[in-house]
Amino acid sequence: MKYTEDNLGEIVTTDGDNGSYYDERIVMAYCPICAAKFIGTIRQAGGFLGGHEVFHAWEFTVQINNELEA
Ligand SMILES: [Zn+2]
Repeated sequence: MKYTEDNLGEIVTTDGDNGSYYDERIVMAYCPICAAKFIGTIRQAGGFLGGHEVFHAWEFTVQINNELEA
């Protein structure tokens, strides 16, 4: 399912392999670190934010380690 800014605020029900979500609101979220944006259900926005958080934490750790080794 593809959502755009036109869908913001809509309440949807989605079915997927992992279950069904009822009465999910379509929202926009953005990453405070790299400014990437996402539009989708709140459940998906949580995955987007969690994914970015984990990735940027990893990126930061790798960077620190490289600086310590240099
Ligand atoms: Zn990010």
